[in-house]
Amino acid sequence: MQAISVFDIFKIGVGPSSSHTLGPWNAALTFVQQLLEIDVIDRIQIDLYGSLAKTGKGHATDKAIILGLMGYQPKSVNVTQINEIVLKVQKSNILIIQSKELHFEVARDIIFNSYMHERHPNTLVFRAFVGEKLLKQQLFASVGGGFIENEILDQKSHSLVCFPFPINNGADILTYTRKNDRSISDIVLQNELTLRTNKEINQQIALISETMLESIYQGCCTEGTLPGGLNVSRRAKKICDKLTDSFVHTTRNEWMLGIQNGSKDFSIINKWVSCFALAVNEQNAAMGRIVTSPTNGAAGVIPSVLLYYTLFCDYGGIEEVKKFLFTAGEIGCLFKKGATISAAVGGCQAEVGVSSAMAAAGLTEVLGGSPEQCLMAAEIAMEHHLGLTCDPVIGLVQVPCIERNTMGAIKAITAANLALESDASAAIVNIDTVIDTMWDIAKDMHTKYKETSEGGLAINLSVIHPNC
Ligand code: SF4
Repeated sequence: MQAISVFDIFKIGVGPSSSHTLGPWNAALTFVQQLLEIDVIDRIQIDLYGSLAKTGKGHATDKAIILGLMGYQPKSVNVTQINEIVLKVQKSNILIIQSKELHFEVARDIIFNSYMHERHPNTLVFRAFVGEKLLKQQLFASVGGGFIENEILDQKSHSLVCFPFPINNGADILTYTRKNDRSISDIVLQNELTLRTNKEINQQIALISETMLESIYQGCCTEGTLPGGLNVSRRAKKICDKLTDSFVHTTRNEWMLGIQNGSKDFSIINKWVSCFALAVNEQNAAMGRIVTSPTNGAAGVIPSVLLYYTLFCDYGGIEEVKKFLFTAGEIGCLFKKGATISAAVGGCQAEVGVSSAMAAAGLTEVLGGSPEQCLMAAEIAMEHHLGLTCDPVIGLVQVPCIERNTMGAIKAITAANLALESDASAAIVNIDTVIDTMWDIAKDMHTKYKETSEGGLAINLSVIHPNC
């Protein structure tokens, strides 16, 4: 059994895509480590296959690879300098790898092969040469949520620590919570304590929640048009400005206080939840800093529901945020183990569907739900995302992605409320059944609906691709 930490599900990163930006970025960072013992390299070539090639340009895969080869880390790179760094490489044809200059022509050395590689729909191969001689070659699969697989990493993952509560499915969660009379987040905490100290856990939780909140706030403060050629206007700031015209705010805290003291009318709360989700995904589309949760395309759902809880419910402080994120994160782990969190494998049900299920469970726990009700909420949220396709227009994580996060957030809140008002023991569908069902649908779904931009909205909207 693979032991996955919730901190692998929530990663601080850069938009727009976890599988097409963060995964290739991490692969490049890993490959560069393999080059340490080699003195002379003349050329590096990267081959992208399948979905990575088909939507890689819109998902900034080439930029991510350049940044990874140069050693920049997704969680710490200055996001305002990304375009400048990449442009410099494109103009100079020089890449600095481990303090050495390498001739690198982006158009020649990053190759987009639109056919599928047998290993995975998101496969990439790195090769290093001296002259014509191949010195090093490494194949990676970007399997969703920024996770990557290759032989070296696979070997390492076998030696992962054993959790005191090894969880493979929803039934395991119920066994442990019932036997020990604990909440889902308590069980997750015991598992996480085998990987890091309590202090480190608290620091990580504070950093993740701060990054989520800041991505909302920045999205609500930024106007303009998103990059990529689709000319999508940012909407979060416009909605936010309209909703906040009754109070003055110059800081984030004043802004939050103003919202908290404002109207609790259903339509106002609904607009705020949508605005929060739009804000994060607009930041994501502009290569801003976000928290992958469990993917970048779906990064707006959990922050939006978490801020809804903070501002509109009976907020109990950072300990409650920890419970929310632990429970939500464990649901993400269940989907990764039992199905997929990769849109190239399972469509958007694997992204926005999973994030909605995660948010529903997290919200249910902090609103006082039992473990059974948390799992029921996750099941309800996913049940109504089953079959959702991935069809991003011109390969950008913008249409339908940005709006879709608002739907994921609203469904999560509805699912939590339904579960809290229900007898979970009478539920007809359980979480494990819905995960199995999602996986069946993923396997049956046509490739054109799996992050290839070859079906759905991506072909029915008459938009001319800027690269054509
Ligand atoms: S349609 Fe969904 S899965 Fe596909 S890129 Fe957009 S958010 Fe991600």
